[in-house]
Amino acid sequence: MSGNRLTIFDTTLRDGEQAPGFSLRIDEKLKLAHQLKRLGVDIIEAGFPIASEADAEAVRMIATHVRGPVIAGLARCHRKDIERAGWSLAPAERRRIHVFIATSDLHLERKLRMSREECLRTAMAAVKLARNYTDDVQFSAEDATRTDPRFLWQVIEAVIQSGAKTINLPDTVGYSTPDEITSFFESVLAHVPSSDQVTFSAHCHDDLGLAVANTLSAINGGARQVECTVNGIGERAGNASLEEIVMAIRVRADRLPFATGVDTREIFASSQLLTSLTGEGVQANKAIVGRNAFAHEAGIHQDGMLKDRRTYEIMRPEEVGVSATLVLGKHSGRHAVQRRCEQIGHTLERHVLDDVYRAVIAHADREKTVSDADLASIVARVTGAAAASERSKPLATAAQDFASTPAEVGYGHGV
Ligand code: MN
Repeated sequence: MSGNRLTIFDTTLRDGEQAPGFSLRIDEKLKLAHQLKRLGVDIIEAGFPIASEADAEAVRMIATHVRGPVIAGLARCHRKDIERAGWSLAPAERRRIHVFIATSDLHLERKLRMSREECLRTAMAAVKLARNYTDDVQFSAEDATRTDPRFLWQVIEAVIQSGAKTINLPDTVGYSTPDEITSFFESVLAHVPSSDQVTFSAHCHDDLGLAVANTLSAINGGARQVECTVNGIGERAGNASLEEIVMAIRVRADRLPFATGVDTREIFASSQLLTSLTGEGVQANKAIVGRNAFAHEAGIHQDGMLKDRRTYEIMRPEEVGVSATLVLGKHSGRHAVQRRCEQIGHTLERHVLDDVYRAVIAHADREKTVSDADLASIVARVTGAAAASERSKPLATAAQDFASTPAEVGYGHGV
Protein backbone atom coordinates (compact mmCIF):
# COMPACT_ATOMS: atom_id res chain seq x y z
CA MET A 1 0.00 0.00 0.00
CA SER A 2 1.59 3.25 -1.10
CA GLY A 3 2.35 5.85 1.50
CA ASN A 4 -0.52 8.27 1.13
CA ARG A 5 -3.41 6.03 0.05
CA LEU A 6 -5.87 5.32 2.84
CA THR A 7 -7.96 2.17 2.84
CA ILE A 8 -11.60 2.85 3.69
CA PHE A 9 -13.06 -0.09 5.60
CA ASP A 10 -16.80 0.40 5.84
CA THR A 11 -18.51 -1.38 8.72
CA THR A 12 -22.00 0.11 8.33
CA LEU A 13 -23.39 -3.39 7.74
CA ARG A 14 -21.64 -4.90 10.77
CA ASP A 15 -20.88 -2.46 13.60
CA GLY A 16 -23.49 -0.04 12.25
CA GLU A 17 -26.18 -2.66 12.06
CA GLN A 18 -25.50 -3.60 15.70
CA ALA A 19 -26.94 -0.26 16.80
CA PRO A 20 -30.33 -0.64 18.50
CA GLY A 21 -33.12 -0.14 15.98
CA PHE A 22 -30.86 -0.37 12.94
CA SER A 23 -31.24 -3.99 11.92
CA LEU A 24 -31.78 -4.58 8.21
CA ARG A 25 -33.28 -7.34 6.10
CA ILE A 26 -31.07 -9.24 3.67
CA ASP A 27 -32.44 -7.44 0.59
CA GLU A 28 -31.87 -4.09 2.30
CA LYS A 29 -28.29 -5.03 3.17
CA LEU A 30 -27.65 -6.02 -0.42
CA LYS A 31 -29.02 -2.71 -1.67
CA LEU A 32 -26.82 -0.79 0.76
CA ALA A 33 -23.78 -2.86 -0.22
CA HIS A 34 -24.32 -1.94 -3.90
CA GLN A 35 -24.46 1.72 -2.87
CA LEU A 36 -21.25 1.35 -0.82
CA LYS A 37 -19.61 0.01 -3.94
CA ARG A 38 -20.77 3.08 -5.87
CA LEU A 39 -19.45 5.21 -3.02
CA GLY A 40 -16.05 3.64 -3.60
CA VAL A 41 -15.18 2.10 -0.25
CA ASP A 42 -12.31 -0.39 -0.41
CA ILE A 43 -13.72 -2.96 1.99
CA ILE A 44 -17.29 -3.76 2.97
CA GLU A 45 -17.60 -5.56 6.29
CA ALA A 46 -20.84 -7.30 5.43
CA GLY A 47 -21.67 -8.85 8.78
CA PHE A 48 -20.86 -11.29 11.57
CA PRO A 49 -21.79 -14.65 10.00
CA ILE A 50 -21.90 -16.71 13.21
CA ALA A 51 -24.35 -14.27 14.81
CA SER A 52 -27.39 -15.71 13.03
CA GLU A 53 -28.53 -17.60 9.96
CA ALA A 54 -29.71 -14.34 8.47
CA ASP A 55 -26.34 -12.68 9.03
CA ALA A 56 -24.54 -15.56 7.35
CA GLU A 57 -26.94 -15.47 4.40
CA ALA A 58 -26.60 -11.70 4.06
CA VAL A 59 -22.81 -11.94 3.93
CA ARG A 60 -23.06 -14.74 1.39
CA MET A 61 -25.49 -12.76 -0.80
CA ILE A 62 -23.23 -9.71 -0.74
CA ALA A 63 -20.18 -11.89 -1.45
CA THR A 64 -22.05 -13.35 -4.42
CA HIS A 65 -23.42 -10.17 -5.96
CA VAL A 66 -21.16 -7.24 -5.08
CA ARG A 67 -18.03 -7.13 -7.19
CA GLY A 68 -15.15 -4.70 -6.73
CA PRO A 69 -14.69 -4.04 -3.03
CA VAL A 70 -13.17 -6.65 -0.74
CA ILE A 71 -15.97 -8.33 1.24
CA ALA A 72 -15.16 -8.96 4.90
CA GLY A 73 -16.82 -11.04 7.59
CA LEU A 74 -16.21 -10.85 11.34
CA ALA A 75 -15.32 -13.87 13.47
CA ARG A 76 -14.31 -14.45 17.05
CA CYS A 77 -11.18 -16.55 17.50
CA HIS A 78 -13.36 -19.69 17.52
CA ARG A 79 -13.19 -22.46 14.96
CA LYS A 80 -16.91 -22.43 14.16
CA ASP A 81 -16.94 -18.63 13.74
CA ILE A 82 -14.08 -18.80 11.26
CA GLU A 83 -15.54 -21.76 9.38
CA ARG A 84 -18.88 -19.97 9.08
CA ALA A 85 -17.17 -16.79 7.90
CA GLY A 86 -15.21 -18.82 5.35
CA TRP A 87 -18.42 -20.40 4.04
CA SER A 88 -20.24 -17.07 3.86
CA LEU A 89 -17.40 -15.33 2.02
CA ALA A 90 -16.61 -18.19 -0.37
CA PRO A 91 -18.42 -16.68 -3.41
CA ALA A 92 -16.58 -13.34 -3.10
CA GLU A 93 -14.18 -12.16 -5.77
CA ARG A 94 -11.94 -10.88 -2.97
CA ARG A 95 -12.59 -11.88 0.64
CA ARG A 96 -11.24 -10.96 4.05
CA ILE A 97 -11.76 -12.78 7.33
CA HIS A 98 -11.62 -10.42 10.29
CA VAL A 99 -10.82 -12.22 13.54
CA PHE A 100 -10.81 -10.52 16.91
CA ILE A 101 -10.07 -11.18 20.54
CA ALA A 102 -9.90 -8.85 23.51
CA THR A 103 -6.40 -8.16 24.81
CA SER A 104 -6.90 -5.84 27.79
CA ASP A 105 -6.56 -7.37 31.24
CA LEU A 106 -10.01 -6.07 32.11
CA HIS A 107 -11.62 -7.97 29.23
CA LEU A 108 -9.40 -11.04 29.62
CA GLU A 109 -9.96 -11.40 33.35
CA ARG A 110 -13.54 -10.27 33.73
CA LYS A 111 -15.14 -11.17 30.39
CA LEU A 112 -13.18 -14.00 28.75
CA ARG A 113 -11.69 -15.49 31.97
CA MET A 114 -8.57 -16.22 30.00
CA SER A 115 -4.88 -15.77 30.76
CA ARG A 116 -2.62 -13.67 28.54
CA GLU A 117 -0.89 -16.85 27.37
CA GLU A 118 -4.20 -18.43 26.35
CA CYS A 119 -5.16 -15.23 24.55
CA LEU A 120 -1.92 -15.24 22.61
CA ARG A 121 -2.23 -18.90 21.62
CA THR A 122 -5.89 -18.51 20.65
CA ALA A 123 -5.16 -15.46 18.48
CA MET A 124 -2.33 -17.21 16.62
CA ALA A 125 -4.38 -20.35 16.00
CA ALA A 126 -7.33 -18.31 14.74
CA VAL A 127 -5.24 -16.36 12.25
CA LYS A 128 -3.68 -19.58 10.95
CA LEU A 129 -7.10 -21.21 10.57
CA ALA A 130 -8.49 -18.15 8.78
CA ARG A 131 -5.57 -18.28 6.35
CA ASN A 132 -6.97 -21.59 5.09
CA TYR A 133 -9.86 -19.61 3.57
CA THR A 134 -8.06 -16.50 2.33
CA ASP A 135 -4.67 -14.80 2.29
CA ASP A 136 -6.39 -11.60 3.43
CA VAL A 137 -6.73 -11.95 7.19
CA GLN A 138 -7.31 -9.04 9.52
CA PHE A 139 -6.71 -9.29 13.25
CA SER A 140 -8.30 -6.96 15.80
CA ALA A 141 -7.15 -6.60 19.38
CA GLU A 142 -10.41 -5.61 21.05
CA ASP A 143 -9.97 -2.87 23.65
CA ALA A 144 -6.46 -2.29 22.27
CA THR A 145 -6.21 1.25 23.60
CA ARG A 146 -6.68 -0.03 27.18
CA THR A 147 -4.27 -2.96 26.77
CA ASP A 148 -0.86 -3.17 28.49
CA PRO A 149 1.38 -1.99 25.62
CA ARG A 150 4.04 -4.68 26.08
CA PHE A 151 1.47 -7.45 25.84
CA LEU A 152 -0.20 -5.77 22.88
CA TRP A 153 3.11 -5.57 20.96
CA GLN A 154 3.72 -9.24 21.68
CA VAL A 155 0.27 -10.25 20.39
CA ILE A 156 0.65 -8.14 17.26
CA GLU A 157 4.06 -9.61 16.38
CA ALA A 158 2.71 -13.12 16.97
CA VAL A 159 -0.33 -12.70 14.71
CA ILE A 160 1.80 -11.12 11.98
CA GLN A 161 4.04 -14.21 12.13
CA SER A 162 0.87 -16.33 11.93
CA GLY A 163 -0.20 -14.62 8.70
CA ALA A 164 -2.32 -11.52 9.50
CA LYS A 165 -1.99 -8.77 6.89
CA THR A 166 -3.97 -6.00 8.60
CA ILE A 167 -3.79 -5.16 12.30
CA ASN A 168 -6.76 -3.23 13.64
CA LEU A 169 -6.37 -1.48 16.99
CA PRO A 170 -9.83 -0.46 18.14
CA ASP A 171 -10.65 2.18 20.66
CA THR A 172 -13.55 -0.11 21.50
CA VAL A 173 -15.13 2.04 24.18
CA GLY A 174 -14.30 5.49 22.78
CA TYR A 175 -11.92 6.29 25.64
CA SER A 176 -8.89 7.76 23.87
CA THR A 177 -8.00 11.36 23.24
CA PRO A 178 -6.55 12.51 19.91
CA ASP A 179 -3.02 13.24 21.17
CA GLU A 180 -2.94 9.92 22.99
CA ILE A 181 -3.97 7.86 19.98
CA THR A 182 -1.26 9.37 17.76
CA SER A 183 1.46 8.31 20.18
CA PHE A 184 -0.29 4.96 20.72
CA PHE A 185 0.05 4.10 17.00
CA GLU A 186 3.57 5.55 16.76
CA SER A 187 4.63 3.43 19.69
CA VAL A 188 3.13 0.22 18.26
CA LEU A 189 4.82 0.81 14.90
CA ALA A 190 8.13 1.44 16.67
CA HIS A 191 8.01 -1.58 19.00
CA VAL A 192 6.58 -4.35 16.83
CA PRO A 193 9.50 -5.82 14.88
CA SER A 194 7.46 -6.79 11.79
CA SER A 195 5.22 -3.72 11.77
CA ASP A 196 6.47 -2.71 8.31
CA GLN A 197 4.93 -5.86 6.82
CA VAL A 198 1.30 -5.03 7.62
CA THR A 199 -1.27 -2.26 7.37
CA PHE A 200 -2.41 -0.74 10.66
CA SER A 201 -6.03 0.19 11.09
CA ALA A 202 -8.01 2.49 13.40
CA HIS A 203 -11.52 1.74 14.66
CA CYS A 204 -12.77 4.53 16.89
CA HIS A 205 -16.02 4.90 18.79
CA ASP A 206 -17.79 8.13 19.53
CA ASP A 207 -18.63 7.84 23.23
CA LEU A 208 -16.91 11.18 23.91
CA GLY A 209 -17.64 12.64 20.48
CA LEU A 210 -14.00 12.07 19.49
CA ALA A 211 -14.25 9.21 16.98
CA VAL A 212 -13.42 11.22 13.87
CA ALA A 213 -10.74 13.32 15.63
CA ASN A 214 -9.19 10.13 16.99
CA THR A 215 -9.29 8.50 13.56
CA LEU A 216 -7.46 11.42 11.96
CA SER A 217 -4.95 11.34 14.82
CA ALA A 218 -4.42 7.61 14.28
CA ILE A 219 -3.59 8.36 10.64
CA ASN A 220 -1.00 10.83 11.86
CA GLY A 221 0.40 8.04 14.03
CA GLY A 222 0.77 5.67 11.07
CA ALA A 223 -2.62 4.00 10.54
CA ARG A 224 -3.36 3.53 6.84
CA GLN A 225 -6.77 1.86 7.12
CA VAL A 226 -9.72 3.55 8.79
CA GLU A 227 -12.89 1.79 9.89
CA CYS A 228 -16.00 3.89 9.68
CA THR A 229 -19.73 3.89 8.97
CA VAL A 230 -22.17 5.96 6.94
CA ASN A 231 -23.79 8.58 9.20
CA GLY A 232 -21.49 7.38 12.00
CA ILE A 233 -23.96 4.71 13.09
CA GLY A 234 -22.75 1.91 15.35
CA GLU A 235 -22.70 0.52 18.85
CA ARG A 236 -23.77 3.02 21.56
CA ALA A 237 -22.77 6.53 20.39
CA GLY A 238 -21.61 5.08 17.10
CA ASN A 239 -18.45 4.75 15.03
CA ALA A 240 -16.34 7.31 13.23
CA SER A 241 -18.40 8.81 10.43
CA LEU A 242 -17.20 7.94 6.94
CA GLU A 243 -18.37 11.20 5.39
CA GLU A 244 -16.65 13.33 8.02
CA ILE A 245 -13.32 11.50 7.70
CA VAL A 246 -13.36 11.59 3.91
CA MET A 247 -14.33 15.26 3.66
CA ALA A 248 -11.86 16.33 6.37
CA ILE A 249 -9.11 14.71 4.33
CA ARG A 250 -10.38 16.30 1.12
CA VAL A 251 -10.98 19.81 2.46
CA ARG A 252 -7.81 19.88 4.57
CA ALA A 253 -5.44 18.17 2.16
CA ASP A 254 -2.87 20.73 3.30
CA ARG A 255 -2.80 19.13 6.77
CA LEU A 256 -3.84 15.58 5.79
CA PRO A 257 -2.11 14.74 2.51
CA PHE A 258 -3.90 11.45 1.89
CA ALA A 259 -6.06 10.00 -0.87
CA THR A 260 -9.09 7.71 -0.69
CA GLY A 261 -11.02 5.90 -3.40
CA VAL A 262 -14.31 7.48 -2.33
CA ASP A 263 -16.47 9.29 -4.89
CA THR A 264 -17.64 12.07 -2.57
CA ARG A 265 -20.61 12.86 -4.86
CA GLU A 266 -22.15 9.56 -3.66
CA ILE A 267 -22.00 10.55 0.02
CA PHE A 268 -25.43 12.15 0.30
CA ALA A 269 -27.14 9.34 -1.60
CA SER A 270 -25.50 6.79 0.71
CA SER A 271 -26.63 8.70 3.79
CA GLN A 272 -30.17 9.04 2.47
CA LEU A 273 -30.43 5.40 1.49
CA LEU A 274 -29.33 4.33 4.97
CA THR A 275 -31.84 6.60 6.72
CA SER A 276 -34.64 5.46 4.44
CA LEU A 277 -33.84 1.79 5.10
CA THR A 278 -33.52 2.15 8.88
CA GLY A 279 -36.13 4.84 9.38
CA GLU A 280 -33.61 6.69 11.57
CA GLY A 281 -32.69 10.15 10.34
CA VAL A 282 -29.56 12.07 11.23
CA GLN A 283 -29.68 15.19 13.38
CA ALA A 284 -30.31 18.42 11.42
CA ASN A 285 -26.87 19.81 12.29
CA LYS A 286 -24.95 16.61 11.50
CA ALA A 287 -21.75 17.53 9.64
CA ILE A 288 -21.78 16.90 5.86
CA VAL A 289 -25.16 15.12 5.60
CA GLY A 290 -27.49 16.90 8.05
CA ARG A 291 -30.42 18.97 6.76
CA ASN A 292 -28.70 22.18 7.89
CA ALA A 293 -25.13 21.26 6.92
CA PHE A 294 -25.20 23.68 3.98
CA ALA A 295 -28.03 25.99 5.09
CA HIS A 296 -27.33 29.66 5.77
CA GLU A 297 -29.86 31.46 7.89
CA ALA A 298 -28.23 34.58 9.34
CA GLY A 299 -28.53 37.68 7.19
CA ILE A 300 -24.82 38.51 7.39
CA HIS A 301 -23.99 35.00 6.23
CA GLN A 302 -26.50 35.11 3.37
CA ASP A 303 -25.06 38.46 2.26
CA GLY A 304 -21.56 37.00 2.28
CA MET A 305 -22.67 33.89 0.41
CA LEU A 306 -24.29 35.95 -2.33
CA LYS A 307 -21.10 38.00 -2.78
CA ASP A 308 -18.67 35.06 -2.61
CA ARG A 309 -19.63 31.57 -1.40
CA ARG A 310 -16.16 31.01 0.04
CA THR A 311 -16.92 33.52 2.82
CA TYR A 312 -18.98 30.91 4.68
CA GLU A 313 -18.57 27.70 2.71
CA ILE A 314 -15.51 25.44 3.02
CA MET A 315 -16.88 22.85 0.60
CA ARG A 316 -19.56 22.92 -2.08
CA PRO A 317 -22.72 20.92 -1.39
CA GLU A 318 -22.39 19.48 -4.91
CA GLU A 319 -19.11 17.82 -3.85
CA VAL A 320 -21.04 15.52 -1.51
CA GLY A 321 -23.97 15.08 -3.87
CA VAL A 322 -26.32 17.58 -2.25
CA SER A 323 -28.40 19.46 -4.77
CA ALA A 324 -30.87 21.72 -3.05
CA THR A 325 -32.21 23.43 -6.13
CA LEU A 326 -34.18 20.62 -7.66
CA VAL A 327 -37.77 20.69 -6.40
CA LEU A 328 -40.17 18.06 -7.65
CA GLY A 329 -43.70 19.07 -8.59
CA LYS A 330 -46.39 18.11 -11.07
CA HIS A 331 -44.46 19.72 -13.91
CA SER A 332 -41.35 17.68 -13.27
CA GLY A 333 -40.17 15.36 -15.99
CA ARG A 334 -39.26 11.73 -15.75
CA HIS A 335 -35.57 12.62 -15.89
CA ALA A 336 -35.84 14.94 -12.87
CA VAL A 337 -37.60 12.20 -10.91
CA GLN A 338 -34.87 9.75 -11.88
CA ARG A 339 -32.11 12.18 -10.85
CA ARG A 340 -33.74 12.90 -7.50
CA CYS A 341 -34.23 9.20 -6.83
CA GLU A 342 -30.53 8.63 -7.50
CA GLN A 343 -29.62 11.52 -5.22
CA ILE A 344 -31.47 9.88 -2.35
CA GLY A 345 -29.89 6.53 -3.08
CA HIS A 346 -32.34 4.69 -5.35
CA THR A 347 -31.21 3.59 -8.78
CA LEU A 348 -34.40 2.34 -10.39
CA GLU A 349 -35.01 0.05 -13.30
CA ARG A 350 -37.02 1.54 -16.11
CA HIS A 351 -40.37 -0.12 -15.39
CA VAL A 352 -40.07 0.78 -11.72
CA LEU A 353 -39.20 4.36 -12.60
CA ASP A 354 -42.37 4.57 -14.70
CA ASP A 355 -44.49 3.58 -11.71
CA VAL A 356 -42.61 5.95 -9.39
CA TYR A 357 -43.00 8.77 -11.90
CA ARG A 358 -46.78 8.26 -12.14
CA ALA A 359 -47.03 8.18 -8.33
CA VAL A 360 -44.98 11.38 -8.02
CA ILE A 361 -47.25 13.26 -10.42
CA ALA A 362 -50.35 11.98 -8.61
CA HIS A 363 -48.86 13.05 -5.28
CA ALA A 364 -47.93 16.50 -6.65
CA ASP A 365 -51.49 16.99 -7.88
CA ARG A 366 -52.68 16.65 -4.30
CA GLU A 367 -49.79 18.21 -2.33
CA LYS A 368 -48.10 20.71 -4.72
CA THR A 369 -44.55 19.53 -4.00
CA VAL A 370 -42.87 16.21 -3.35
CA SER A 371 -40.28 16.18 -0.57
CA ASP A 372 -37.40 13.71 -0.36
CA ALA A 373 -39.31 11.92 2.39
CA ASP A 374 -42.39 11.71 0.15
CA LEU A 375 -40.27 10.41 -2.68
CA ALA A 376 -38.59 7.83 -0.45
CA SER A 377 -41.96 6.50 0.69
CA ILE A 378 -43.25 6.39 -2.90
CA VAL A 379 -40.17 4.40 -3.93
CA ALA A 380 -40.60 2.07 -0.96
CA ARG A 381 -44.26 1.53 -1.84
CA VAL A 382 -43.60 0.88 -5.50
CA THR A 383 -40.54 -1.35 -5.03
CA GLY A 384 -42.21 -3.15 -2.13
CA ALA A 385 -45.09 -3.97 -4.46
CA ALA A 386 -42.60 -5.08 -7.12
CA ALA A 387 -40.77 -7.32 -4.67
CA ALA A 388 -43.99 -8.91 -3.45
CA SER A 389 -45.05 -9.81 -6.97
CA GLU A 390 -41.84 -11.64 -7.80
CA ARG A 391 -40.82 -13.04 -4.43
CA SER A 392 -37.14 -13.90 -4.66
CA LYS A 393 -36.01 -17.48 -4.48
CA PRO A 394 -35.21 -18.89 -1.04
CA LEU A 395 -31.62 -18.18 -0.11
CA ALA A 396 -29.06 -20.89 0.34
CA THR A 397 -29.11 -21.76 4.00
CA ALA A 398 -26.04 -21.80 6.17
CA ALA A 399 -24.51 -25.12 7.13
CA GLN A 400 -26.96 -26.97 9.33
CA ASP A 401 -24.42 -27.81 12.00
CA PHE A 402 -24.20 -24.13 12.90
CA ALA A 403 -27.92 -23.90 13.44
CA SER A 404 -27.68 -23.35 17.18
CA THR A 405 -25.87 -20.32 18.51
CA PRO A 406 -24.36 -20.21 21.99
CA ALA A 407 -26.66 -18.15 24.12
CA GLU A 408 -24.29 -17.30 26.92
CA VAL A 409 -22.40 -14.54 25.18
CA GLY A 410 -24.50 -13.28 22.29
CA TYR A 411 -22.93 -11.55 19.36
CA GLY A 412 -23.82 -7.98 20.13
CA HIS A 413 -20.32 -6.73 19.77
CA GLY A 414 -16.82 -7.38 18.69
CA VAL A 415 -14.37 -4.63 18.19
MN1 MN B 1 -16.86 -1.35 17.11
